[in-house]
Parts: sequence; structure tokens; C-alpha cells
Amino acid sequence: MRLRTGLRVLWRSRDEVQIGTDPRWAIRLTGLSAGEIDLLTALEEGIASRGLAAVARSLAVPPDRLDTLLAALDEAQLICLDGPGLRPAPTPALPPGGTPDAATWTRLLHDGDGAGLVAARADRTVGLLGAGRIGLCLAVTLAAAGVGTLLVEDDLVVTPSDLGVGGYTARDLGTARRTAAARVLRDVAPDASTMAPEGTRPDVMVLVEHGAADALRARVLMSAGVVHLSVVVREADVVVGPLVRPGSSACLRCLDLHRTDADERWPAIATQLASSTPARGAGEESLLAAIAGSLAAGQVLAELDGTLPRTLGASFEVGLPDAVPRVRDWPVHPRCGCTGLPPSGGG
Ligand SMILES: [Zn+2]
Repeated sequence: MRLRTGLRVLWRSRDEVQIGTDPRWAIRLTGLSAGEIDLLTALEEGIASRGLAAVARSLAVPPDRLDTLLAALDEAQLICLDGPGLRPAPTPALPPGGTPDAATWTRLLHDGDGAGLVAARADRTVGLLGAGRIGLCLAVTLAAAGVGTLLVEDDLVVTPSDLGVGGYTARDLGTARRTAAARVLRDVAPDASTMAPEGTRPDVMVLVEHGAADALRARVLMSAGVVHLSVVVREADVVVGPLVRPGSSACLRCLDLHRTDADERWPAIATQLASSTPARGAGEESLLAAIAGSLAAGQVLAELDGTLPRTLGASFEVGLPDAVPRVRDWPVHPRCGCTGLPPSGGG
């Protein structure tokens, strides 16, 4: 038994300690004896459940006080029983960089199995179309977080405006983005794969597009039942979302129909924006790329981990000058009919 990974027992006064600092779980315990404080401190490192009573006895903590303290910790969900959360070292299934992720999720999850959550990412596949700064930032973050397979599609070559955010360096100049992205991913996450057998269906497909989302591309993913996240780079902002679970949440056509309600000429405008090649080669502003790429990675992980992605039926709009994401909700459009389709099993 031990405290959730990384939680500290902090001394407040002679008979009072505080455990943790996050208001979601931190508690103060008062009226403690010196032995009780020592016992709590020992729980930072962990004590085998079987040996707990003996440790309490050696510190002169009576059995009823031990029960009271454990009940208080249990109620605040601060303790993990012997199990995945107690392992002092990462399990072999964890990627080398996955330890901080597992530790953090151990504090957040009810069962304390952060290692299990991170290890499960190794079996997941994410597809990415559009590997500029935003796409590469997303891919690198997902690889660092333990996602096992990242399939990158992009036929452009790396130019000076792609460097920096995400990880392209000067040596990648002139190389196809697809190839350079695989090089970067190999460097940061040697366990991650950038290839998969023909026909592998990604768990989530991410589309990074410029100007407007390509309606045709979205339709193909809808009919294939592939969960997809739209990222659209606009004049001075980036829209991250929606994350579309085909058949059960607002799709990109729903958004186009809402926009057409507001401006009947939107379809003509959107077609021109989506097909504008110069816009695609224009690069992605560095700060927006870093924030949008990270926000997008967070939404993909939420979908893979089974926590609720905020961009289901919503998008983040992050724009300069303040670069603070704002949430915009997108209900299913009544004329789209996408949710009348049988769910395609993509989620
Ligand atoms: Zn729809």
C-alpha cells in the first residue's frame, strides 16, 4: 500500500501534515502523533499491506488510529493497494519515456493503474495527413506519450518555414516531410513504428489542412467509419476539432451546414479555400503550431485512452495575438443526417 505516485507528505506543524497540493485530492490531517506522521511519511515510499500493522506497531500507532488514518486516505482516494500503481519501476511494456505519463495518470485514475493506461497506447495507431509544424508537433507528442504506431502522409518537402516547432532540423531541408518525420519520430521514440501493414485502419486519423477542411476527404473517412480529428489553419488562427466519431457526433459536413446557415455562399468560399495550394505551402506560425499541435495531441490521447475528448461536437479556436484556446460547440446539424447512419464501429 502506498500514496498515489509522487504525492508528498508535507509537514505543516508539530501535529499536522498535508498530503498533495492539487485541490482535487489534497487533504490536511490534524491531531497526529509523531509516530503517525512517520507512518504517513513511510507510505510515500510504500509499505506492503501485510506489513502495515507491524510498521504501525513499531511506531506506537494503535490499530484503531491506523484504521482511522487509512479510512481518511481511502476516502480522499490517496492510496493505492499493492498493484500496478505500487511498482517502483516502469513495467517492461512501458516505452522509455512513458514513466512521467504513467505516474501522472496513476494520480488521476480511480484504480491507480497509470502504467496500464500508458502501456495500452502501444497497441494504438494514429494516422496523420499533413506533417508541417502542427502535424509533427502532434506526432512527436503522441510518440512520447507511448502511442505505438504513427502513420504520416505528406508529399511536400521540408522547407525553412517548417523548422523548429515539432522537430525538423536544418538537415531535413529538401527531404520529403513523410521521410523526415519518420526520422524525427525514430529519434524521440525508438519504440514507435512509422509503418504498418497495407490496409491498417488507424484508431484516429488527424487531418491538418489549410484554409478550410476538404469535404471530400471527410466524406471518405465518414463512409469508412474512421474516427477523425480536423485541424484547420486559417489566416491568424487554428481550429482544432471537431473530433468526429462517425455516426455519433457532429461531422465536418454538419459544420459546413451550420456555416452555410450563416452565409449561403459558404460552400463556394470553402471550396476555394480548401483547394488553395499557395496557402498549404505558406507554413504554420510557430506559436500557433506549438499550441495547436499539443491541443490536437491531447484530443487524440483522450480518444485513445477513453477519457472524454472535449472536441466531440466542439472545436478549439486558438488565434493570435493572445493564443488562448476558446471552445466552440457544434451540435449535429438537423439536415446532415450523419447520426442517422448506423454507428460504424470506429470508436
Ligand atoms: Zn453531420
